[in-house]
Amino acid sequence: MPQDTRIPVGVIGATGMVGQQFISRLANHPWFEVTWLAASERSEGKRYCDATSWRLPAPMPDSVRMMPVHACTPTQGPKVIFSALDAKAADGLEHFFAAAGHVVLSNARSHRMDPLVPLLIPEVNADHLGILPEQRRVKGWPGAIVTNPNCAAVVLAMALAPLRRFSIHSVMVTTMQAVSGAGYPGVASLDILGNIIPFIGGGEEEKIETETLKILGRATAPLDAVVSAQVNRVAVIDGHTTVVSVELESRPPVEDVVDAMRAFRGRPQELGLPTAPNPPLVVLDAENRPQPRLDVDRGDGMAVSVGRVRACPVLTHRFVALGHNTIRGAAGASILNAELMKADGLLTP
Ligand code: NAP
Repeated sequence: MPQDTRIPVGVIGATGMVGQQFISRLANHPWFEVTWLAASERSEGKRYCDATSWRLPAPMPDSVRMMPVHACTPTQGPKVIFSALDAKAADGLEHFFAAAGHVVLSNARSHRMDPLVPLLIPEVNADHLGILPEQRRVKGWPGAIVTNPNCAAVVLAMALAPLRRFSIHSVMVTTMQAVSGAGYPGVASLDILGNIIPFIGGGEEEKIETETLKILGRATAPLDAVVSAQVNRVAVIDGHTTVVSVELESRPPVEDVVDAMRAFRGRPQELGLPTAPNPPLVVLDAENRPQPRLDVDRGDGMAVSVGRVRACPVLTHRFVALGHNTIRGAAGASILNAELMKADGLLTP
């Protein structure tokens, strides 16, 4: 699409960790142009460069530096809104945007488990967008809400997606989650340096257990399987690592599991969407990979890296999967959702 016909988009929660990833990744996007920013009362009325404690290694794009930060008031921004709102703020605000006619692409947990709201990973469950007419009819929204998963659930669900053909029965996952997952300033340095915290608040374990089944199931019914999750916060800056054991009913040979992961592709790859990683799953052979420092940026942060695929003496198979929590687990996921919706004619009249 030529630059001058890009679709105008707004970012709410633009000043936070995920908001900054949106700004950075949308700066040169071929289809979308950021024209409106919003955040809390703390930032309202300031220039973006004054309201934001910029935490990314790439510099703040010039195109947003002087843009004003608005209040999160529906009807004021463009039709397409990316939401990086804090969950409590999202609870109270996102549905007002949908009711006012905006298409909201949300990172927050608020609406993910609503049966009428797609919890989308374009490679895995693109067909779940088919629920949108029903969402509009039942909620009476001229707009819509589409969500992306919890930042650990997306890593797990992408790694499990090619294994659905072997009938997933049960999954046990232990996560090692980066500090950037807690926003900024997040976890106190005295709590996390040289340490592991075996708890993440906000219902993290339940989110991984329930969201994974919704994503891997049909639009109207979750996958009939069980997931047990145990989460840990670790002293890693970016990248959630998940250590997974899975029971596959058809008990395939390990080579078939690896082949299925390597061959995995979805609609983003078929359509050649601008930020689609290809391949979406990078299967690594080295016995000491994936590692956050070496592998988190694969596919420009959009690929999930998998390694150590082998037999499990308790369930049937086990592996390690890693993904970038603020990119594939947040802003990058929302942008890919929007690209798929644009390709399917769901963003513009
Ligand atoms: P964050 O750094 O704390 O940023 C929160 C943003 O929400 C800021 O822009 C803040 O604006 C805004 N905000 C807070 N209260 C508000 C209110 N009452 N009205 C309007 N705006 C308000 O959080 P984050 O880590 O970016 O996370 C953002 C969302 O993405 C959360 O829902 C989180 O659960 C989800 N998420 C995060 C990750 C991750 O890896 N970090 C991954 C997946 C999903 P001010 O700066 O003006 O206060």
